[in-house]
Amino acid sequence: MTSEVFAGAGFQLDSPPLLSRSTVDRREELRESLDGGAKLWHSGKVVLVDAKGRTQIDENSRLVVQPAVDFGDRPSPNAVLLGVEDDVSYWALRTDHDGAADDWRDLRTGGALLNDTDAGLLTTAVGLLGWHDNARYCAVCGAATTRVKVGWARRCSGCDREEYPRTDPAVICLVSDGADQVLLARQPVWPKHRYSVLAGFVEVGESLEACVAREVAEEVGVRCTGIRYLGSQPWPFPRSLMLGFAAVADPEEPLVPADGEIEEARWVHRDTILAALEAEGEPVDGVRLPPNVSIAHRMIKGWATTKP
Ligand SMILES: [Zn+2]
Repeated sequence: MTSEVFAGAGFQLDSPPLLSRSTVDRREELRESLDGGAKLWHSGKVVLVDAKGRTQIDENSRLVVQPAVDFGDRPSPNAVLLGVEDDVSYWALRTDHDGAADDWRDLRTGGALLNDTDAGLLTTAVGLLGWHDNARYCAVCGAATTRVKVGWARRCSGCDREEYPRTDPAVICLVSDGADQVLLARQPVWPKHRYSVLAGFVEVGESLEACVAREVAEEVGVRCTGIRYLGSQPWPFPRSLMLGFAAVADPEEPLVPADGEIEEARWVHRDTILAALEAEGEPVDGVRLPPNVSIAHRMIKGWATTKP
């Protein structure tokens, strides 16, 4: 290997990840003082989210929101406060409605349609409501917990312990050869021809950089260097935070896909990636790229459109 190969490419994400956009002020200080406060509620609007993370999006690609007072004079104990913008407070509530209709969409299919404000509201709503669904019992004593701090904590009815919303860090890494090839892989459960960059969850006691090196080695059997951070995106399916990295590896090292986890791994030329980006989801040379809404798409496009 020549030293140029390990020089590292200077590409970045081509644009901010779609689910990393947001505009509302989270107003963290209101969570302590308010605890169900009525004042914000009266000017508030509510986003309804079904059990599958779907919500109604209108013909102008805006979230459909309802006046909060339609749900009662005081804040619903099940409502979570997403933030405040232009003196309007935004809340989210789980609905029993089964959003099977065409105008109900989840973040994967609707996230790209939404403007910055609505993308941030829905991403936070889906993540926070999902956490509540799975935090009903205290992890220490097993007693039931209740929602407090306008949805930003739960308190145990047995030992009074408070628990806060969790997110799981996961790394995702674009490995290139430092020149014109990128390393892509596919999992057996993915749609036909779908390839993406490598990803995995951060383990306890592990740094992000160590996680990148471990995941790349485990999944495809190559050693990578020049690990650097690119950007992040919340991915509430159910509660990940994707941390994007770039790294460089030697394309002459044999690829050893992890049994059961990686069906195939291959080096793909920049020209194929550029053609696949143009093809918008149609396979090119057997490669279909991940959707626009994923940080993987932003990483791959950023790499492909920046000459090293
Ligand atoms: Zn407890």
